[in-house]
Amino acid sequence: MSDQPFDAVLIGGGPANLSAALALGRARRHVLLTDAGPRRNGAATHVNNFLTRDHTPPDEMRRIGREQLAKYPTVTLRDEPVLGVSGERGAFRVELPSGVVDARRLLLGTGMIDEMLPIEGFAERWGHAIYQCPYCHGYEVRDRPWGFLVSPQNAGHFVPFALQALQWTDRLTVFTHGQMEVDGDTRGLLEARGIRLATAPIERLVGPGTTLTGVATGGEVIPCDALYAHPPQRQVQLVGALGLELDDDGYVRVDEMRRETSRPGIYAAGDLTTRMQGAILAAGFGTRAAAMINVELAMEPH
Ligand SMILES: Cc1cc2nc3c(=O)[nH]c(=O)nc-3n(C[C@H](O)[C@H](O)[C@H](O)COP(=O)(O)OP(=O)(O)OC[C@H]3O[C@@H](n4cnc5c(N)ncnc54)[C@H](O)[C@@H]3O)c2cc1C
Repeated sequence: MSDQPFDAVLIGGGPANLSAALALGRARRHVLLTDAGPRRNGAATHVNNFLTRDHTPPDEMRRIGREQLAKYPTVTLRDEPVLGVSGERGAFRVELPSGVVDARRLLLGTGMIDEMLPIEGFAERWGHAIYQCPYCHGYEVRDRPWGFLVSPQNAGHFVPFALQALQWTDRLTVFTHGQMEVDGDTRGLLEARGIRLATAPIERLVGPGTTLTGVATGGEVIPCDALYAHPPQRQVQLVGALGLELDDDGYVRVDEMRRETSRPGIYAAGDLTTRMQGAILAAGFGTRAAAMINVELAMEPH
């Protein structure tokens, strides 16, 4: 039987779509998974907090994922970027450098791009000493001095994030980098919990290579071995070109259950759809999207 049209083309090969490919392969759907370009955790040395894969290097996790897919003959992998998409539900045309393929459904798992902050030494330390998530990279640096860099964009979860960090360390400094006001009640709460507040702009990050030992701000160096930050994120170019509806925070809007986007027949799973980002969460959403695609294809008239 010909592969084409593929039942689905899965665009992006991170945890979301590797997981979707597994589910669709097991359902004997003909799918093509294409992947090319940077992945979100490319700078990290290990993936943590993923059941059975705790503390696994990202490349190794991806290798195992691909190895397990090799057992399913209806799954094809290609290391190619999707350059463009045309057509509609049931009859998409997907443009790759090697040619055009046809697909009945599309599943986007293209992740997000983190914009590095213009602070000296930030980009080099991203994934090494600067992290997005303490569940992923907190235990390894427990009981050491931490910093949390807040911004007006993530002001909404400033206090809960700071308080939860006390689970890992009692030496926490919140840095506002001169970018936001902190009201009296919040200052009082932080002080009562032993959290230091530093409001001056950060001058530079201190420490050899990709490590961090302190944050230079307001004329002093505040000890800090691990800094947590949520820099702005943007969608990959393809998502913009598809004209999909985004939510107020810039994530692709999907039907929560079915994972379908505002364009019929195009589904999305993983980081591009939510601020709640983690490899195992992305994998879970990939599985859900795969099941929905399979059911909806099954319900189409033959
Ligand atoms: C520094 C860092 C460390 C992290 N550590 C952890 C951790 O320890 N544990 C954890 O659970 N989570 C961790 N995360 C979060 C985790 O990496 C993400 O939640 C997860 O990778 C999201 O999976 P995804 O499949 O949605 O996207 P991604 O893993 O980003 O994969 C998307 C893929 O799609 C590709 N792509 C994009 N556009 C195209 C296109 N046009 N054609 C083809 N391919 C395309 C990208 O290049 C990429 O390979 C970390 C994140 C960061 C930034």
